[in-house]
Amino acid sequence: MPKIGRIRLVALRAPSPHPVATAFGAMDSRPALLVEIEDTHGARGLGEIWCNFPRHGLESRFHLAADHLAPWYLGRDPADPPALVHAATAAVRRLAIQSGEQGAFANVIAGFDCALWDLLARRAGVPLARLLGGELRPLPAYGSGINPGDPLAEIAGARTRGFRIFKLKLGFPQDDRNLCAVSAELRDDERLLADANQAWEVEEARARLQELAAFPLDWIEEPVPADLPPSVFAELAAVSPVPLAGGENLASPEAFEAMIAARALAVVQPDVAKWGGISLCRRVARRAMAAGLRCCPHSLGGGIALLHSAHLLAAVGGDGWLEVDVNPNPLREGLVPFAGCDERGRIAHSARPGIGVDPDPAFLSAFRVMETEIA
Ligand SMILES: [Mg+2]
Repeated sequence: MPKIGRIRLVALRAPSPHPVATAFGAMDSRPALLVEIEDTHGARGLGEIWCNFPRHGLESRFHLAADHLAPWYLGRDPADPPALVHAATAAVRRLAIQSGEQGAFANVIAGFDCALWDLLARRAGVPLARLLGGELRPLPAYGSGINPGDPLAEIAGARTRGFRIFKLKLGFPQDDRNLCAVSAELRDDERLLADANQAWEVEEARARLQELAAFPLDWIEEPVPADLPPSVFAELAAVSPVPLAGGENLASPEAFEAMIAARALAVVQPDVAKWGGISLCRRVARRAMAAGLRCCPHSLGGGIALLHSAHLLAAVGGDGWLEVDVNPNPLREGLVPFAGCDERGRIAHSARPGIGVDPDPAFLSAFRVMETEIA
């Protein structure tokens, strides 16, 4: 059986003339850390490692992957990615604790897992969603990352690309003004979501959630810090007129299970590039859907992560929506084969094997910060 024979890491950074604002800080550039895994028979797969924060997250995860994870993966059989997620996590457990870098290690393992799934799908000659037991279908998508500065203009831009669902950033002094303006402009077939990015303390959230009832929101995401106990989210959900969403900052099977069991989140949002990869996020998605909850995979990075997220959603089925960042980002626009939605606000899938793209080396070199190969 072929083994993992070569691992290439490519750190990319694109300028962001239009910083993405969140309640805890802005992204003034757009990073993407790509991992390409090749087996000893020449089959290759691509993954992306989440690295949006802090600003040096790209460089730190690059070194962490090159020094500690890539050597561990080399020579292993790629056939069982879920087993490798667990084994890799166990292998670096003590180092992750000692360094306080549990999140960064989890991000790297997630990206490696995505690359392995892409490799297996390409080796089988089928789109990743099909290898995962699903079917290719147009995916209902929502336009994410609508900033607080001029949300009407950003929504108008997303609308021209076919989006019918928009997610507005909250946690700013102008929240109510923005919500009023955006709600008033919303068309009959359009929907609005909001993301507080953990902005509020519990008492403040309790009050804000009541006030948000005035607006036509399908969900409010992460109203409070994501490390609060599920019981706090459940208590907020019980009094909130707007359904709660979250999951991008949960990082263990137990954390997701506790949130799902407590019925604290109506919408569960695992991020394949951030924790668990395809292997564990697929389990979370299935568990959430079995509990009657909606799964809308989280993604706000480069194009490779978005494609993995799309294949996960296509694979698990259900009524989830695909999160698509509408902010300019060459590392998304230059890598994904779709530029907009169809007339029903859906995004089409490529029928090519794996995630369906092979980045142009010249394109990558234009944004490359660092690159290394472990073989
Ligand atoms: Mg969010």
